[in-house]
Amino acid sequence: MLDINELFRDEFLVLEEARATAANTLLPADAYREELLVLTLRYQRLIRESYRLISRSDRAERELNRINEQLQLLATQLEYEATHDPLTAVFNRSAIINQISQALTQGNVALILLDIDHFKRINDDHGHPMGDKVICSLVARIRRAVPEMAAIGRVGGEEFTILLPNTRIEDAMITAGYIHASLNASPLDVLPGRLVTASIGVSLGLRGSDFESLYSAADVALYCAKNRGRNQVALHDAFFRDPSPAHSLKICST
Ligand code: GH3
Ligand code: MG
Ligand code: MG
Repeated sequence: MLDINELFRDEFLVLEEARATAANTLLPADAYREELLVLTLRYQRLIRESYRLISRSDRAERELNRINEQLQLLATQLEYEATHDPLTAVFNRSAIINQISQALTQGNVALILLDIDHFKRINDDHGHPMGDKVICSLVARIRRAVPEMAAIGRVGGEEFTILLPNTRIEDAMITAGYIHASLNASPLDVLPGRLVTASIGVSLGLRGSDFESLYSAADVALYCAKNRGRNQVALHDAFFRDPSPAHSLKICST
């Protein structure tokens, strides 16, 4: 705590002397003039010091603002890194799980689970760095095939989830079909000589249900798609209603 008396000791002394001089009516004019001169000098010094202090505090404030902005930027960066996959920039496992759990408290949630087919062979044949490029390129295809409100997450090495909040199972199947069709339409740019496909499982979680049940239902559907020969979409049998033979998507009864 600053002591005002200590801080302005000299100024108070000058003031006291000036008051004493002013109270004394018997002094010669020169003494008053002298006292006035001391006062003006001291007053001018005060102005100079105040100006220096204000400039210094302005500089300190600007520096604080700059540090604050840097901190905020760093916090945003940290938050981004904590929730995103560094390779593909989609949500990482814990972030997408949080989002799915949160979405389930708000309404029904459709979940698409996708696993690249025979990805190990791609790594073996073309090398791990090419495998990474394939993953990124495939994610870019997924992005273009899903609605804007979908959240994509990387839950494993070559396994992704697409969260579709407040979505009917029929619409989720259509989205899964778009992804499937998009991957089969042409090879990825990074690997023109080879078609990269994926197996896809679809399920729906009702509002209030938990992440684990929804995820394991989609996982059951995914492995059904794998077992049936890969490169296809499978729907969990809880939603198996109208197995029309004309249906382009394979509906899996587990
Ligand atoms: P399946 O059709 O049954 O899914 O076969 P798969 O070969 O895709 O599955 P498997 O689980 O046998 O192999 C997955 C491979 O993915 C093994 C692992 O080395 C590779 N992998 C996991 N993460 C990455 C990654 O970030 N980059 C690369 N290049 N490879 C990865
Ligand atoms: Mg795989
Ligand atoms: Mg896998």
